[in-house]
Amino acid sequence: MKKRYDCIIVGAGPMGIHCAYELMKKAPDLTVLLVDRGNDIYNRRCPILLKKTDKCPTNSSGISGCHPACSITTGFGGAGAYSDGKYNITNEFGGWMGEYVDSEVLLDLINYVDQVNLEHGADTEITDPTTETVKAIEKKAIGAGLKLLRAKVRHLGTEKNLKIMENIYEAMKGKIDYLFRTKVVNVIVEADKVVGIELENGEKIFAETVVLGVGREGAIWLQKTLESHNIKFTNNQVDIGVRVETNNIVMEDINKHLYEGKFIYNTSVGTTVRTFCSNPSGYVVVENQDGVILCNGHAYSDEKLGTENTNFALLVSHEFDEPFNNPNQFAYEVAKLANKLAGGTVIVQRYGDILKGRRSTAKRIKESFVTPTLKEAIPGDLGLVLPYNTMKSIIEMMQALNHVTPGIASDHTLFYGVEAKFYSARPEVNSNFETKIKNLYVGGDGAGITRGLSQAAANGVWIARNIIKKMQQKGD
Ligand SMILES: Cc1cc2nc3c(=O)[nH]c(=O)nc-3n(C[C@H](O)[C@H](O)[C@H](O)COP(=O)(O)OP(=O)(O)OC[C@H]3O[C@@H](n4cnc5c(N)ncnc54)[C@H](O)[C@@H]3O)c2cc1C
Repeated sequence: MKKRYDCIIVGAGPMGIHCAYELMKKAPDLTVLLVDRGNDIYNRRCPILLKKTDKCPTNSSGISGCHPACSITTGFGGAGAYSDGKYNITNEFGGWMGEYVDSEVLLDLINYVDQVNLEHGADTEITDPTTETVKAIEKKAIGAGLKLLRAKVRHLGTEKNLKIMENIYEAMKGKIDYLFRTKVVNVIVEADKVVGIELENGEKIFAETVVLGVGREGAIWLQKTLESHNIKFTNNQVDIGVRVETNNIVMEDINKHLYEGKFIYNTSVGTTVRTFCSNPSGYVVVENQDGVILCNGHAYSDEKLGTENTNFALLVSHEFDEPFNNPNQFAYEVAKLANKLAGGTVIVQRYGDILKGRRSTAKRIKESFVTPTLKEAIPGDLGLVLPYNTMKSIIEMMQALNHVTPGIASDHTLFYGVEAKFYSARPEVNSNFETKIKNLYVGGDGAGITRGLSQAAANGVWIARNIIKKMQQKGD
């Protein structure tokens, strides 16, 4: 490892990887260092996935998790490396890059990364959102005031996803310097220009340009660090809602022809509701976020492990104005209330009981035609938890969805609460994602600019191209 580079990229998630890959391809003379606090692609070994334990290991000081960082969320490949990797080819969702870059340019960038993935082993198969059946679904949706977000989706698949990462890792090895298991603790700024980074052990590495792509994992660090250099952040949105569970038969057309039907609806109370993360034949699960228990869902690719149910999230976007500036805390408090009422877990309630304004009881859930896949959820009343505005938005969305998937608004459909999606605060940047500190770029999920593989990777490519352009202009 050198002491000085042309460019240092912090974070080896999709954003950092595709930034590095583009620099290697288009400006091979530049010296580039890619740093990540997690492991390289071959050493991301989660003891739970390896079935060595069923919970995170705890060290002698009582600290839970792997050393130096969690193999599931950190390391080469970033947060989604172990996911089934749905690569969405669309500029309609997956982040807010379109607020900075022309939407056609964004789509070109996403297609460009798709090509890179194909060159490194991605499947050629892709979903087609333009079939007559999908058009018929879309027509019904429009009639009900719903917008169907159509995207081509390349299913990378968990094993394939890791293999693609491995191939890209090998392609860059020797051309890009790697530094893993190394946490960056600060950026070094002199006279309003970035000059390098500082590592946890106090070591300094210098560079002409620094790119920060630290993901949701590094979002708090990013905000704290950049605010200390007087960069302003904004964060005014959080998504709150429920996980809906119904029988597969109700969702059959959507599951078969779209796998995941992404719909959005603008409600009479001024909110936008969206469907998210659909799991045909799946399970509702809980996730622990900083001590708060939230709902989520997943499905196995092995059909033998499938259920009779499909689940998906209905999320209501809430935006806040001054003086309130902590939307994430708001969602935590709502979810905590559900945990309190349910004795430390999530609540399950039948849709019919919600409409009647009464709680679900164990008896009512047992009598339901939908058998809950999350056994630990406690029958209760989400009406005592979700704000009126949120609940009204969800009910309006259910009524609209019932025109596209008849039966979804049946009394028997189950709601689990609370589900929430948090976003990282967004630093002030220009359209090249450069901060007011010269040559310091930020991007990806950690900077609140993206929320998906395709835009995060596209963000990396765009930043790389701008770095090259700037360096060329300097050389002219
Ligand atoms: C379980 C799961 C499933 C997902 N499935 C999908 C999907 O199917 N389709 C989809 O589009 N999206 C999916 N996503 C979202 C997707 O993974 C993210 O949008 C994407 O990874 C964001 O990329 P990124 O490069 O911005 O950040 P990340 O991928 O989070 O990478 C950031 C990297 O920065 C490193 N880092 C952080 N702080 C520091 C520091 N101080 N010093 C050094 N290194 C640091 C971390 O170790 C990490 O490796 C999924 C996410 C998860 C968690």
